[in-house]
Amino acid sequence: MPTLEAKDIVVHYGALAAVRAASFTIEAGRIVALIGSNGAGKSTTLKALMGLKRLSSGTLTMDGERIDRTSAAHRVARGIALSPEGRRLFPRMSVLENLEVGAHTVRHGARRRNALEQVYALFPKVAERRRQMAGSLSGGEQQMVAIGRAMMSCPSILMLDEPSLGIAPKVVAEIALAIQRLNEESGISVVLVEQNARLALSLAAQAYVFEQGAVTRSGSGQDLLADPSVRRAYLGV
Ligand code: ATP
Repeated sequence: MPTLEAKDIVVHYGALAAVRAASFTIEAGRIVALIGSNGAGKSTTLKALMGLKRLSSGTLTMDGERIDRTSAAHRVARGIALSPEGRRLFPRMSVLENLEVGAHTVRHGARRRNALEQVYALFPKVAERRRQMAGSLSGGEQQMVAIGRAMMSCPSILMLDEPSLGIAPKVVAEIALAIQRLNEESGISVVLVEQNARLALSLAAQAYVFEQGAVTRSGSGQDLLADPSVRRAYLGV
């Protein structure tokens, strides 16, 4: 399992620097949380890791090898996958067809079948509803499909953008448990971007706080849960 390292990364939208010299490490096999307010640059950071946004400066390395100039397709092949904010499913396609979209880079049929089995084992509800149109599922179930679709490329680093957004608390707890199980059982790293800081920090071995595009604080999830300024700013305590 590889370690991904971002060093002083800067990402622009036109003249706006959405990410400003952010540095962080996604250690192999860990759950890493990126927290911060709306517009702090978390989603942009995930897009940059995935190769959907170019760096203006800084470096990304995977086990020491530069990947920041490579295409998104190359990074999928290297084991990075993204479940985007808002899920972005194809609502009029079946659940199974949506999952298969995530596997289009995986050549071996056996590997694809294993990935599908893993998704079904993690989310039995997705298995039950595999023939239904994705758009007919509840928000929580659609989120499970979106995570499943990202799992279908057999990633070693799974990035989830706001998996709890707009989902009933009971289902959020179910998804949180699934993320934990996936990490423990298969050893893949999970990068978790969340507005729900309490949830993200309680799952994360390592966490980074983003403010206006910069990393202003980092530590273990437990440390940040106990940090008075984090509690005031992000936990409503
Ligand atoms: P959110 O949870 O709202 O997505 P975030 O921390 O993920 O917040 P980003 O979405 O990365 O933040 O946004 C960082 C900054 O970049 C914000 O100022 C935002 O307005 C701006 N931004 C994001 N996407 C675009 C875009 N496509 N074009 C121009 N500016 C953008």
